[in-house]
Formats: sequence, C-alpha cells, structure tokens
Amino acid sequence: MRKKLKMHESLIPQELVNFYQELSQVLIPEDVITYTPPPREVLNEGYKKGIPLIKLCPPKVKVFDFFFTVMKQIAAIIQKHHPDLSIEITEVEKALPDDATTQELFVSQAFIPGSNLLIHLKQPVSPEAFGFLLNHTVKLFMQQYGKIVASLYDFEQWQKGDCPICGGRPNLALFEKETGKRYLYCGMCEINWRFQRLGCPYCLNVESQFFTVDGERQEKYRVYFCDHCRGYLKTINCKNANDDEIDLFWEDINTVYLDILALQEGYLNKLEAS
Ligand SMILES: [Zn+2]
Ligand SMILES: [Zn+2]
Repeated sequence: MRKKLKMHESLIPQELVNFYQELSQVLIPEDVITYTPPPREVLNEGYKKGIPLIKLCPPKVKVFDFFFTVMKQIAAIIQKHHPDLSIEITEVEKALPDDATTQELFVSQAFIPGSNLLIHLKQPVSPEAFGFLLNHTVKLFMQQYGKIVASLYDFEQWQKGDCPICGGRPNLALFEKETGKRYLYCGMCEINWRFQRLGCPYCLNVESQFFTVDGERQEKYRVYFCDHCRGYLKTINCKNANDDEIDLFWEDINTVYLDILALQEGYLNKLEAS
C-alpha cells in the first residue's frame, strides 16, 4: 500500500542547517581514539550473535581531558545557535567534573549506551541540556571510532536492524541505484549496512508500506511505516536521485519535514523511543 501526503510547506529551518554546519567543523584528530582488538574468535562469535562492536572493543579516548575540550567547543556552538538553551548549558559546563579520576570514569562511560552520567556532575543540571550536549560530543568521537573499527565486521552481510558499531537504530535507509539493495544508515556512527529489501528493521514485521510527498525534488524520498510497531523510516530511492553524491548526514537533516509528517500521522521516532 502506498499513500501520498501533501506537503504544506517545505521546512528546513536554516538555523538547524547552520548549527550542523558549524558542528561538522569540529575535528577530532584520527589518533585520539583507540580500542583493544578482540581475538578473532570473539569477533566471529560476536558477529554471529549480532553484538555491536562497541560492546566487544569499546572506544578509548587516549587523552581523556580532550573529550572535555571538545565538549566545551560544542557547548559554545549550541549556545550560539540555540540561545534558549544558553543558561542551562552554562550550568552544565560548570557542573562537569574537574578531578582526573571522575573525568576518566565519565569519558569511559560516555560510550556505554544507557549510562547515567548525571551522577558524575558536581551539581544537578537540566538533564535535557546535558543530554543534548553529551550526545553531540559522543557522536563526533563515535564517527572516528566507526572509521577505525569498520573493517572488523562485514557490513554487507550484517543484515540486522541495529547498527553493527553502536547497536543503535537506523536514522535513514537507501535503495542503491543499480541493484536496489537496501542499506540502513546510523546517524551516530555515520555508517551503512545492508539489510533485507523489505520489512521493518525495528520489529522485523515483513509488511512494507510507504508514503511519498508531492513536490519538487521529492521523488527520491519514501517514508516506510510499520503498523505493527508504529515505527517509520525515511528512505532514499537512489534510482530517482540524480547523480550527485548523496550525503546521508545532510539528507537526514534536510528531510526533517518528513519526520514531522510521519509524527503527524501517528508514527513514532524509533531513535527516541526505547
Ligand atoms: Zn551506530
Ligand atoms: Zn515495525
């Protein structure tokens, strides 16, 4: 089944684009992240069982206080583009740990999904502002980590709904131009892996339904939705895209209106839902 929705307005808030543009200029030197390579048999077993690499060989930040340097850089960018968060972010900065032992613990736990880092702060802060800052910081390190561990697993055969590196859910999918193969994309690690062509990656329901939107340059987008788990997945059909290279990071941001439409239709953002 497919339906067509009307797009009321094309909305890519320029401020959002500026924010991400500035964030993408914060550079993490290549050698700042390391990991301990697991033995081959541990990797093989992990691969078979679908265990993400972050659990087998978590990233280590060589000089852990560099993590805080980056965090402060990002705090300044957030304050510039989200003035509404300015006071809360200043509070968060003041509350960051300054003794080496706590800092080290903080950084090592920052990469463990579900860790409660608020307990390491010197005073209570807005959990939302803290989470926003922390996520954007961790993401930069995860991309670097993603690059150095990518060769440990075969992403072409992974075929799971969750990211082989961080275990997170996909932000986007794409159908390859020539073969029509489907790849899922993790916005945290910025990597793709192969997944079956049809069906829901969240609950593995085999049905496939999607909606499209009318409008200029909209023919390459589809939003798959699942009436079983209520999840949705923005998808780029590269067959309908021109030959410019598709940058999934920007595609995700430039299609925020598709998220809004999906939410309006009653579907859930599975990145946020547990
Ligand atoms: Zn990931
Ligand atoms: Zn589903």
